[in-house]
Amino acid sequence: MQFDTKLLHGRAIKGYADREILPPISQVSAYRYDSMEELERVFAHKSMGYAYSRIGNPTVSALEQRINELEGGAGTVCCSSGMSAITASLLAVCEAGDEIIAGNGLYGGTIDLFRDLEKFNIHTVFAGELKAEEVRRLITDRTRVIFGELISNPSLKVMDIEAVSAVAHEAGIPLFVDSTTATPYIANPIALGADAVIHSTSKYINGGGNSIGGIIVDGGRFKWDFDKHRALRGFEKYGKLAFSVRLRTDIWENFGGCMAPMNAFLNYIGLDTLSLRMERICSNARLLAEALDKLPGMEVNYLTLPQHPCHEFVDKELNGLGGGILSFRAGSRERAYEIINGLKYALIASNIGDLRTLVIHPASTIYIHSDKRQMEAAGVYDDTVRVSVGIEDAGDLTEDFTRAIKEAGSRQEASA
Ligand code: PLP
Repeated sequence: MQFDTKLLHGRAIKGYADREILPPISQVSAYRYDSMEELERVFAHKSMGYAYSRIGNPTVSALEQRINELEGGAGTVCCSSGMSAITASLLAVCEAGDEIIAGNGLYGGTIDLFRDLEKFNIHTVFAGELKAEEVRRLITDRTRVIFGELISNPSLKVMDIEAVSAVAHEAGIPLFVDSTTATPYIANPIALGADAVIHSTSKYINGGGNSIGGIIVDGGRFKWDFDKHRALRGFEKYGKLAFSVRLRTDIWENFGGCMAPMNAFLNYIGLDTLSLRMERICSNARLLAEALDKLPGMEVNYLTLPQHPCHEFVDKELNGLGGGILSFRAGSRERAYEIINGLKYALIASNIGDLRTLVIHPASTIYIHSDKRQMEAAGVYDDTVRVSVGIEDAGDLTEDFTRAIKEAGSRQEASA
């Protein structure tokens, strides 16, 4: 079964209780039982059943099982947001005194999270680019996990998962990959060697910009050393599934970052059209990048452009696609604002992965709390404009951006 078919007819898409085509929205906090003995068995994991929606909910499970199948995972947990997924996944494997190696142009919120974790004595060592040799150099006997984005946003650095996971595994350390910008349509990090995959479902999986959510998929292949990964002690009997069992029954459950049933439903119906949307988004992004790249003096960052430093990974890891994000440098912050304000179709909004084209000046928004070094490592300069390309007509988009860029240029020249 090819991906597009699996998306709609995979094993995980079972019939639901009353033969609904979609999972019903189980919009309740708790489930009632006919006897105390029955509820006791559910709590003791001796019989299947839902007790309380923070701990398990059938609509949320339907989404978990579907994404688990698409990513080739062994266990999946939905979270209230992408940040909640990143936090829970890291805290499941780290405790005070441990170190994380992180990099590859991380999302600003993730950088902020690493700063928060310092207060719990979990230290992060940043690698500008998560390259195998750099990772090898940074590993210490305190390293517990390597975390990076497959396609960083907006710098568009692509992680060589095979090479990085090989170095990580040699040292007995798992590799966690945030694959939000790649989506399961473009890449399959677990097949390439990642041990866990994280998505902010708020982006491309949802696709309609209508709900926040996150997901963690455990590859279930990592051989945990419980002397090293002390955070997983107590879960030895689950072997390679220790990470997902600790997540579900401990960190995720107790931190309370569950996905709401309604959001799970919205993500579920969003997922239905992932292939169609990504096909159009990637094609539009490529056409727009190529058109902007032809404008004089324009520095465009898009993965399928031949000059892109990670171009080789487009075929190797990304199914021949460049994704939906591109960025360009406008020359100055003022000109970046002028271009953004002059666009007719792109919405000025802090999000990616929407059906609609979205545009933002990252330095003054998403990276407002990052220092210059962190921003530059993330490919963000004072004149960077980020575009999350949507599914509009490619000709209209190209015409709109070209016009706004030319008009901003001519106004600047006139005032000079
Ligand atoms: N990971 C990446 C790559 C992101 O771009 C974002 C948000 O923009 C997140 C994680 C956080 O996701 P959420 O906003 O759903 O918490």
